[in-house]
Amino acid sequence: MIACLDRFVHENDSESRILSDNLSTVCKSLDLKGSIDCRAITDKDFGGLHSIKPLAVIRPAGPDDVQKVVKAASVSSNLTVAARGNGHSINGQAMADGGLVIDMRSFEDYVFHVGRENGFTYVDVSGGALWENILKRCVEGFGMAPRSWTDYLGLTVGGTLSNAGISGQTFRFGPQISNVLELDVITGNGDALTCSEEKNSELFFSVLGGLGQFGIITRARILLQSAPDKVRWIRLIYSEFHEFTRDAELLVTREEGESFDYVEGFVFVNNDDIVNGRPSVPLDQAQDFNPAHIPQTAGSVLYCLEVALHYNNSDHPSTVDTTVSRLLQGLRFISNLKFQVDMGYMDFLLRVKRAEEQAKANGIWDSPHPWLNMLVSKSDIVEFDRVVFKEILKDGIGGPMLVYPLRRSKWDNRTSVMLPEEEVFYLVALLRFAPPQGDGSLVRKLVEQNQEIIQYCTEMGFDFKLYLPHYKSVEEWKQRHFGNEWSRFRLRKKAFDKNSILAPGQKIFARNT
Ligand code: FAD
Repeated sequence: MIACLDRFVHENDSESRILSDNLSTVCKSLDLKGSIDCRAITDKDFGGLHSIKPLAVIRPAGPDDVQKVVKAASVSSNLTVAARGNGHSINGQAMADGGLVIDMRSFEDYVFHVGRENGFTYVDVSGGALWENILKRCVEGFGMAPRSWTDYLGLTVGGTLSNAGISGQTFRFGPQISNVLELDVITGNGDALTCSEEKNSELFFSVLGGLGQFGIITRARILLQSAPDKVRWIRLIYSEFHEFTRDAELLVTREEGESFDYVEGFVFVNNDDIVNGRPSVPLDQAQDFNPAHIPQTAGSVLYCLEVALHYNNSDHPSTVDTTVSRLLQGLRFISNLKFQVDMGYMDFLLRVKRAEEQAKANGIWDSPHPWLNMLVSKSDIVEFDRVVFKEILKDGIGGPMLVYPLRRSKWDNRTSVMLPEEEVFYLVALLRFAPPQGDGSLVRKLVEQNQEIIQYCTEMGFDFKLYLPHYKSVEEWKQRHFGNEWSRFRLRKKAFDKNSILAPGQKIFARNT
């Protein structure tokens, strides 16, 4: 059967219908409980920059199906397999050109169990579960919630755990990969294994932040905490970068109880543009950004420190006010430029969903997104701001430009993630939205601008790493991303996916033939 599958990989397009029929027959012999779509529909992701044709898309009914597919591919001579979460990558990372794509959402509900272990409450969820559904089920059913999030929750557990999962809680609890107790994984060699810090620990840490290279996560055990009822969401404006970073760093290094529950920040343009400028800041339509409060010394861009405090319905409003005032004491934002709203906890975590609905209505959700995400050391961020934000991007990017500090000590260096060296480093996220009716030349320009920024950071010798990294050759991965950690990553690959069948869209390892 495997030999038959192999034959189909290199056939040409004109014969594709007949081949699909044959392939379909062959795939039947895999005896999956789920389904196989052999129509080889062109695959796209959120980035919209690449499109390729897989050999087939498999919708497994559960982990057993995933294992059968991986086993079949691993003993074939040239098949590759890509787990597809929600396809929200930018550069084709969840694609398999001429290979098998496994749609992990097809069994997203196969497990959902809240339990307790060693004093911790956890939830077991499927690798293909969307974070937004986990949030709803945990809060509504149990009054609990995961501790560490991404800003947008239409992403799968397997997709974010293969990268890191970063948001405004990361400074306290670490990224999502620091909040996992256990995983079920189908390795690239076709083995189904349960792993944790104590059991099969090398596999556990390889897979976390492992860019899908070592195994397919079919179940994850995620730490939970009590969910608060409400959130006070606050935006504070700064004209000077050094004051913004001073306060942001102060907040992320204070003890729990002495700081907010969420800390992020972003850069915006000092003009009246609705998307890139001052009107993009207020949190509610009744609020007005009065530019008269901006000091004369302000430059082309301004900075917003975004914080949030959790509280419960039982807390008296004056207690919340007092706590917020205490936490804001000593911060140097422009005192008349503070915006705040109170809202339900779930509404706060689902805030980007509302932006998604708007973006879908005006067509920019489905247009290309040449995003760039980086992690830049504290010592280089002032120079980065001077050249990148204040000069290269001074007119904005048609979407958010996030910049906020994180702490290395909250990350586990046994995982596969690559970080800058310093304890404090900044997430920089350039979340570009291209207009829907572009001819492609604008998108090319934006991709070039991303390259220009990376090039600048490299030439300046900045201590930085790409987050959600994307390189086109093994050499680049080796030199620019992994550096001294390359041999560890390669040994892990040999151990868990010896024929390099998994996640070919990352372009790290070529399939062994
Ligand atoms: P996919 O794009 O489908 O897959 C990503 C990679 O993981 C692929 O290599 C794939 O093969 C692999 N993979 C998928 N599922 C599994 C599995 N079960 N087991 C093993 N490997 C698997 N990231 C943040 O950290 N913080 C944010 O705030 C944030 N916000 C975002 C907002 C938007 C609108 C978008 C589009 C992305 C955002 N991201 C953010 C990035 C996001 O975390 C990554 O792109 C993530 O990989 C997307 O998840 P996905 O489920 O769509 O994964």
